[in-house]
Amino acid sequence: MIHYKSKAEIELMRESSLLVSKTLALVAALIKPGLTTLHINNLADEFIKDNKALASFKGYHGFPFACCISVNDAVVHGFPSTYELKDGDIISVDVGVFKNGFHGDSAYTFAIGEISPEIRQLLRVTKDSLYKGIEKAIHGNRVGDIANAIQQYTEKEHGYGVVRDLVGHGLGRHLHEEPQVPNFGKRGTGAKLKEGMVIAIEPMINLGTKDVYHDKDGWTIRTADGKPAAHYEHDICIQKGKADILSSFVETEAAEKANTALCSDY
Ligand code: MG
Ligand code: MG
Repeated sequence: MIHYKSKAEIELMRESSLLVSKTLALVAALIKPGLTTLHINNLADEFIKDNKALASFKGYHGFPFACCISVNDAVVHGFPSTYELKDGDIISVDVGVFKNGFHGDSAYTFAIGEISPEIRQLLRVTKDSLYKGIEKAIHGNRVGDIANAIQQYTEKEHGYGVVRDLVGHGLGRHLHEEPQVPNFGKRGTGAKLKEGMVIAIEPMINLGTKDVYHDKDGWTIRTADGKPAAHYEHDICIQKGKADILSSFVETEAAEKANTALCSDY
């Protein structure tokens, strides 16, 4: 069942989504080689608590951390750990918060220091594909229109692997609501998009094969060929004409840029 949100509820959801965005901006400002992913998780967790919210993922089906932090070949659901980031790594940080009865959920893939042009392009194309999906996320369209836009751009135009096993989703009082929002599919198919629907669109795109496997920790999803993967996620509300993006990458991108400039000064 799809839960449609009132205008007042959408404003509460915006607050949750923007708190996730601020958490990701905090991460963007501090990531550097030598930092452990557990340290990033702990700082994000504290920040969420300081903002009178709960980390949505902690305890969700038993997930033990506030953030999913997925390094290199890890696509999503990575465990924060004592792994120390090194130059050339990429990390996908996925954060959810629960505030005022609603969840926000957003993700961003960061580069640590210098990364190869090949991986740089994977990040750029994956982020762009998110916005191509959002362009189709309007009243009257269908979920398949979003899915198809993402797949066309990443798979057909760039030859990347679109993960089939995991999808975006409706969002609200529950972290995962109807409908499912895949990153692959046919135009004109799937659930009809209507005003008041809030969905998380989240392309998970692999440099190589689309195939993935479950790590032995029971959570981490990794690429079958060991090549890197990227993941970007926005929460959006369906409207007529143009989607309302509830989360924001503005602060994250500014912090990322400042951090990169700082690192290259050394
Ligand atoms: Mg997420
Ligand atoms: Mg999500």
